[in-house]
Amino acid sequence: MRIPSTSGVCAGALAALIIATVAGACTSRPDRPVVEATNGGTTSTSGGNGTGNNATSGNGTGNNATGGTGIGNGGSGIGGMPIVGEDDATCTAFTPTRFAKLTPEDPIVATKMAALNQSQMIELMHGGTGDPTWDESSFTGNGVQAAGIKDFIMRDGPRGVRAVVGEYKATSFAVAEARAASFDLDLEYRIGKVQGIEMKALHLDLMLAPTINVLRHPAWARAQETYGEDPVVLGEMGAAYTLGLQESVPACPKHFAGNNTDENRMTVKATVDEKTLREVYLRAFQTVVEKSDPACIMAAYNGINGDWCTESKHLLTDILKEEWQWKGFVLSDWEATKGDGVKSANAGLDHEQPTNKAFSQLPGTVPPARIQDAARRILNARAKFGQLADNYRSGNPNKDIANTQAHKDLARESAEKGAVLLKNEGILPITGTTSIVVLGPDAEKPVADTTVGAHGQGDRGSSNVLSPYAVSFAAGLKTRAAMAGATVTVNTGTDAAPAAGAGVVIIPVTMGHEDEGEAFSNGGDRATLSLDGVHPVHWSGKKPSTFINEVAAVNPNVVVVLAVGSAIIVEDWIGKVKGIVQTFYPGQEGGTALARLLYGDVNFSGKLPFTVATDPSHYPTFENTAATTTYEYLHGYRRLEAAGQMPRFWFGHGLSYTKYEYSGLKVLCSKGITETGRLNLEVTVKNAGTVAGEEVVMVFIKPPVDAAIKRPPKELKAFARVKLMPGESKAVQLSVAAKDMNHWATDHWAVQKGEHTVLVGPSADNATLLPAPFTIN
Ligand code: BGC
Repeated sequence: MRIPSTSGVCAGALAALIIATVAGACTSRPDRPVVEATNGGTTSTSGGNGTGNNATSGNGTGNNATGGTGIGNGGSGIGGMPIVGEDDATCTAFTPTRFAKLTPEDPIVATKMAALNQSQMIELMHGGTGDPTWDESSFTGNGVQAAGIKDFIMRDGPRGVRAVVGEYKATSFAVAEARAASFDLDLEYRIGKVQGIEMKALHLDLMLAPTINVLRHPAWARAQETYGEDPVVLGEMGAAYTLGLQESVPACPKHFAGNNTDENRMTVKATVDEKTLREVYLRAFQTVVEKSDPACIMAAYNGINGDWCTESKHLLTDILKEEWQWKGFVLSDWEATKGDGVKSANAGLDHEQPTNKAFSQLPGTVPPARIQDAARRILNARAKFGQLADNYRSGNPNKDIANTQAHKDLARESAEKGAVLLKNEGILPITGTTSIVVLGPDAEKPVADTTVGAHGQGDRGSSNVLSPYAVSFAAGLKTRAAMAGATVTVNTGTDAAPAAGAGVVIIPVTMGHEDEGEAFSNGGDRATLSLDGVHPVHWSGKKPSTFINEVAAVNPNVVVVLAVGSAIIVEDWIGKVKGIVQTFYPGQEGGTALARLLYGDVNFSGKLPFTVATDPSHYPTFENTAATTTYEYLHGYRRLEAAGQMPRFWFGHGLSYTKYEYSGLKVLCSKGITETGRLNLEVTVKNAGTVAGEEVVMVFIKPPVDAAIKRPPKELKAFARVKLMPGESKAVQLSVAAKDMNHWATDHWAVQKGEHTVLVGPSADNATLLPAPFTIN
């Protein structure tokens, strides 16, 4: 993230400041955490209307929008550093800083510890009986009433605050996978912030989110909950969310580590070599720790390299607490302890959920210093959020918090920026037609739950949210079409005939919790990567791909809308339709957002945070029922590129209603960079079309080839959103620290020296990327 001295730049000193970072959203807020000097930039404007500062994100919910708390970011856009130049000192020397929320220890911790005996400290180390105000999904962690320490109530995210009961509702945002598709760190920060505000208003104390597990394979039931396949996107998005959330309540990034299947998650033992573990499966957690200092981290169900994650000293103590110097507390996933409470506690597990099973063995078996350490960590994490104060959680919860207009606007922004236009053969935006047909069994399905039991959210497990309302695709389209003088006919049957003669036929396909979603809630991993495994119950036995083909034979003007969590293999019908949009699960404003996108009121800007293959065999083997599994080094775009396989859509693919041109890639460190420096770059991006848009610029690094060092062909290392008016060009500056180009060499991180290539452009498709060489000396 950016260096502290640059906040003034972000506040508006430069008329056309842009972005550029994997990391932080720049802001003028003095209290906004700052992590590390980063990619930053300036822009020049040529042609077009030129936009000012705040180009990438000043929109959305404004400052103070929530009535005093504010979910804006002070009006600034994502920004970065001052202009970096040819001889900028950061090419050779750069000192990363680290965001510290948990240090120094809060003084109240020592006072509380002095009042506790050892059995009371152990009390703090496990779950309680639940809070009667809430339903069964409100888990509690014990306090010690005699010492004035209240229990803490937990809720899941990250779509929103997990299903709350009765009159208590929460905002349902687009799922995290969609938010990853926005590549908008400032948006994710604001979503974290609003979820924190809603948690606090509802008197809830700890958010069990974000999910930052790697989307190793698209069939993973919980794909929708995470931020895609790339460790950098996962880490940066997770940190942005955590920073926002932790302005109000503690976060608990999960599931540490290597939780990549669902149906066998409680029993599967994964083998993963240390290099793969560090570079792929732990990298996002390390980023989140360094950049947002979460109060808590959740240990996963599965095993890694011989130990269960809840019993792994290597993961919990050696890496997390010692190497990364993290001061928060580790909580077990629900019933993820395996019976040996002594081994778990000694390995570094601090808190058992949801009850006290394994940790009932603790009295007299674990060194007192370990018990004290766990208690201190839990107390400090809570103290940092004011939760040990005598008057904490007084007054009544605010039942109306989700009815805040700014929260609704933010939900819509998340759905709009998260939708990806995968294909468009001149059918979108909708113009000039007066008849639209919305067709198929999912035509009227809600896109978010307002009461328990709706179909079309993709999960009824821990990411389920009950929102005050939900605008279905059909409802959103009807409202918008009426404004254009068009009529929308909805038909939920599986007969293609109603499509005949319509100007545009829209076929939404959503998945239910039966298709993807946590297995314990009657869900599970996806049975197939095509649409044909989709909820046969709701489709009355009709295969969606067959239906799409039948409809296209009647009327070629078909747009398929995929409200699903991750990649769908589209080979058996893509050639027949003119448009494909992937909305993911778009949340309560999904219908309004889709209608605005299809009519071109807003431009598409989302890009795939994963790779869509043409054949399931191009993904790694997905062993979701096996007792053991192995995670190999390559997955996603890294794997397909190394294998020479062309995907249908590369990571980063996403169309819009305009086109962007990249030129003039310049490495601003022509003499090379050092291992402790950073690479500064500039590229010009032009909106060569006729409508305004926001483009996501991606930076990949290709290391030198060395037979002795295993590396992926290239890796994403930075990204930025740029807003461009028609005809406008901006020079975007980006930067990548050399330390972030590292690789794991047996037992330490190392930076490869020699000539590298930086590739800059819109996606992982080499055909779209501009290359430039640079050297690490
Ligand atoms: C999930 C966690 C969740 C917990 C509590 C578990 O089944 O894996 O992600 O936080 O339940 O709901």
